[in-house]
Amino acid sequence: MAEVTPENLEGELAELAAALTAPGERECLRCYLVRMVAEFGCDGTHRWAARWRDARAASPGGLLRELRRRGGFCDCEVLLTVFPDYPPVSGPLPCAGIPGAGSPRPCRLRPPGHGAP
Ligand SMILES: [Zn+2]
Ligand SMILES: [Zn+2]
Repeated sequence: MAEVTPENLEGELAELAAALTAPGERECLRCYLVRMVAEFGCDGTHRWAARWRDARAASPGGLLRELRRRGGFCDCEVLLTVFPDYPPVSGPLPCAGIPGAGSPRPCRLRPPGHGAP
């Protein structure tokens, strides 16, 4: 049995953290930011938007610039100003799926109790 040393424990924790903060296979940018900001908070940068971009965006080049242009200068501001139509719920809703591969557009969420649009 392998011995658990501080070194390989750290590696395992880092891997676990990476898995916990990875965007879902079809998770849209908005739902990912809602989930990450609710869980880990905003540090005043685009740290989560950049994570999503690196993992999912089809054209990563201008994404953060575009978010800033629309008034989102950090992850929580992106949620307030770029994606203001999130339903008033107490916790993150499951993502309905990215509208197009690599697209930064939000999915079409169905707020609970509202049936089909
Ligand atoms: Zn913020
Ligand atoms: Zn979504």
